[in-house]
Amino acid sequence: MISSRKLFGTNGIRGIVNKELTPEMAVKVGSAIGTFFGKKNLLLGHDARTSGPMFAKAVIAGLTATGCNVFFAGMAPTPALQFAVKNHRMDGGVIITASHNPPEYNGIKVIWDDGIEISHEQEIEIENIYFEEKARFAEWDKLGTTRELSGVNDEYMEAIKKHVNIAKIAEKHYHVVVDAANSVGGLAAPLLLRDLGCKVTSINANIDGTFPGRLPEPRPENLQEVALTVKAVGADLGVAFDGDADRSIFVNENGEIYWGDKTFALIEKDFLKENLNAKIVTPVSSSTLVKDIADAYKGEIVWTKVGSVTVSQTMKKLKANLGGEENGGVFYGPHQAVRDGAMTTALILDIMAKTGKKLSELIEEQPQYFIEKGKVECPEDKKEKLLEKLVEQVKGLNVSTVDGVKIWFEDKSAMLVRPSGTESVYRLYAEAKNQKKASKLIEDYSSKLKKILESI
Ligand code: MG
Repeated sequence: MISSRKLFGTNGIRGIVNKELTPEMAVKVGSAIGTFFGKKNLLLGHDARTSGPMFAKAVIAGLTATGCNVFFAGMAPTPALQFAVKNHRMDGGVIITASHNPPEYNGIKVIWDDGIEISHEQEIEIENIYFEEKARFAEWDKLGTTRELSGVNDEYMEAIKKHVNIAKIAEKHYHVVVDAANSVGGLAAPLLLRDLGCKVTSINANIDGTFPGRLPEPRPENLQEVALTVKAVGADLGVAFDGDADRSIFVNENGEIYWGDKTFALIEKDFLKENLNAKIVTPVSSSTLVKDIADAYKGEIVWTKVGSVTVSQTMKKLKANLGGEENGGVFYGPHQAVRDGAMTTALILDIMAKTGKKLSELIEEQPQYFIEKGKVECPEDKKEKLLEKLVEQVKGLNVSTVDGVKIWFEDKSAMLVRPSGTESVYRLYAEAKNQKKASKLIEDYSSKLKKILESI
């Protein structure tokens, strides 16, 4: 994942512990980050991974060596740490996390003073310092200090409560099952829900960086346990977080798991009712459902490249207050323009309480789409040419080329073709009003791509 001249991927620095990402590198990354900020006050925290404390100490060594003062917040959800950066008026922050990656990974995210991850241009500045050995180290009497900062989880939960109707939610006595993936999701959401008057049943709630309960990515195949538990205990809702609790995937009262754009659309609808003509920021990988809701409730969709940093940065640039991804990332600007699992959970409960409807009823009211996925192998050196040729072929259709090629057809079906960043393949995502049409789109575009490949 980490190449000779590149540290950052789509979501910070990531790598397999002691193979791709070593403590030595972490010290050097720390001194590059410290040089980038320049003798400032930075917050630092980590998720539940076994390597978290080791990398925290290494990065702190690098940061303080360049004269930055570190406020160490310990273990907390990524959004709690992001909120603390803003709330404590830090100059920035560093989070040791590999988010949804398997347990053998860890990573380093860099946060700006507003709690949002730094832009890709800023990442390049840090990479240049790192690779060109340009870190500026402080004199022995100008080294940074390290202090503990406690209470970030409590402040975070208090902040979330301000954005929902606590009394209304409490009246309903909801029973919620929380699957924290044995990570930091368990440090905030169950307590927050209790404060909202819910009965909470927690699974995978003990902190364990080996992730014994399930893999940290909240994909349907990893969420059978939360779905079964919701049914077994007769809960109203289930929620599962990823490894650093910025993404949340929901389960209805019947144990049915929803992919993220369905629940995001609920939040979008509720938000647009109160915020006419608001901009909704979402990657081109999101369902047409998100556009349908914007059309019906007078919102304006801004399509972006895939990746949470791009969504946050676009929201910041356009002063937009809501963003969402199909993978369960919801960016609620009035709280903070970053993905936030506990905030999303509170918003879903707020909507259920406000409408008096069950989650299944709320989702069934929305337009329904069927999804089909596919992939076509493509050598790295042909990836660019293939995209060029495909763009030529679909000229005249309703197309966006902000990330790969996305085509919206008149019959409400849609097709996204994107080169994979990690494998020598093109990925295809089709969506339609029925399964047959979605499958047909994958078939048609797979053969279209193969034909183009033969010609180049
Ligand atoms: Mg995450």
